[in-house]
Amino acid sequence: MKALIKLFFNLFCRVLSLSRSLFNLMFKGDQVIFCYHNVSPTPSEFEAKYDLCHSPDVFNKQLIFLSNHFEWLHPEELGSGKGGALLTFDDGYRDSILVGGKLLEQHRAFAVFFLNMAPILRREAFLVSAADSERQDFLETRPTDDLGQRLVLMKTLNIDFISKEELVSIELKKKGRFFWGNHFYNHYNAPALTSQELVEQYRENEIELKKFESSLNFFAYPFGQRKVCYSQETNDLISKLGARFIFAAHPFPQAGGKLKYRYSLGINSMRNTDIRYDLIRQKLLGYFYKYKSWREGDESNI
Ligand SMILES: [Zn+2]
Repeated sequence: MKALIKLFFNLFCRVLSLSRSLFNLMFKGDQVIFCYHNVSPTPSEFEAKYDLCHSPDVFNKQLIFLSNHFEWLHPEELGSGKGGALLTFDDGYRDSILVGGKLLEQHRAFAVFFLNMAPILRREAFLVSAADSERQDFLETRPTDDLGQRLVLMKTLNIDFISKEELVSIELKKKGRFFWGNHFYNHYNAPALTSQELVEQYRENEIELKKFESSLNFFAYPFGQRKVCYSQETNDLISKLGARFIFAAHPFPQAGGKLKYRYSLGINSMRNTDIRYDLIRQKLLGYFYKYKSWREGDESNI
């Protein structure tokens, strides 16, 4: 019976995906968050490996799609009754802000960039790529571990991050449209940290972010995958630290997590190959279905 319902829903999605106005009806009033990383014609090997980068051309096509199907949400409208789409970018890649930023501006979209300030300010090696190149488990690494200690000393930036000077200049030009959020000082996995380490990672980043007028008390989990990258305990701790909204890269918040958003679509919700609008509609309707069944307590689809 369940399989039959699923089959009918899939057929229903296919029909709906052919029409923009029917699609819009399904998402009317919903707040949908799209998680991106980089937008660049020249992704690093690391970004290519993990599918973290969109070409400017594809990103532009996706912005056209999104602006034709959703209103742009301002971050301060999150949690309000207004429906729409908000774009977020994790980590602080230079091109996400400079190249992606130009396109965002053309489409008059708002964006929240979740920044790791240690690689940006101190040119500290980025945890994920450093761990990845040294074949160490980045989900388990802590600041006091061998790798965590060496990150501070490495000082070799293996990914092209935005600089402090560029952030200052971008903020002047894009005030009111681009915002900075917290992603920890370096890219540690929240559940791997002790409570004290988590507080330090959050606070150290926050102190630097607060020096900018466009910073928000928003937090996105590094990695952000369900079950391994956050828990009720980390949610509680981060809420206590003052985060108004908590984001994850997985499409759905964990059950009971009560993360405060309507839909958050994961890092692969819009791939670098997604340029056919009927297929994007079909894909997003699939998320819609999974989310509804998740809310009704069925985790089998997620
Ligand atoms: Zn990240």
